[in-house]
Amino acid sequence: MTGIQVVLATHNAHKVEELRRILGSRLGEIELIGYDGPEPVEDGDTFEANALIKARAAYAHTGLPSIADDSGISVDALGGAPGIHSARFAGTRDDHDNRVLLLERMIGVADRAAYFTCAAAFVDGATEHVELGIWPGRVLEQETGDGGFGYDPVFQPEGLPVSSAELTADEKNAISHRAIAFGKLISWMHSRR
Ligand code: IMP
Repeated sequence: MTGIQVVLATHNAHKVEELRRILGSRLGEIELIGYDGPEPVEDGDTFEANALIKARAAYAHTGLPSIADDSGISVDALGGAPGIHSARFAGTRDDHDNRVLLLERMIGVADRAAYFTCAAAFVDGATEHVELGIWPGRVLEQETGDGGFGYDPVFQPEGLPVSSAELTADEKNAISHRAIAFGKLISWMHSRR
């Protein structure tokens, strides 16, 4: 795939910023175009289904190849919650409220294993393709660090002594669930040339 315009469908300003940084050096001749069309109802049961819903909506609106993602944090001791409901876990769509609720639910819980998932989807009318990225770690006992967004201050990536909110943007973008999923998706798109 060379010299092609691809629509990036996301209304989350933090994610737009992260995705541009993640994809920047690997885009090659793919030109990413921001998308601010109507938001579809994300009523899928999985990250993959919701990423496809967003990419299909962007394709329907623009007629251009479209990519979108869906992501969230899954906590083993909570049976995988909040999972696909991560953005609205506390009912307010507020990142701080979500973190407070998660820390509350985890009080006294010994098994703190958790992981971020990102599903990155491509839709162009003829083809639909999804790649997954998983970033394992644990839920901290308290908020640590002030970088990142969402659950970053309460997530400690496996093998690191800090929360993901203490990583620089470049450090996080080299190893995160979104970096893995979009890295795979961009490789797949280039392989279609
Ligand atoms: P989405 O916009 O439907 O994909 O919802 C993603 C939600 O999951 C966000 O609102 C965040 O709360 C959480 N999330 C996803 N990725 C990250 C991350 O990299 N750091 C922290 N929180 C994240």
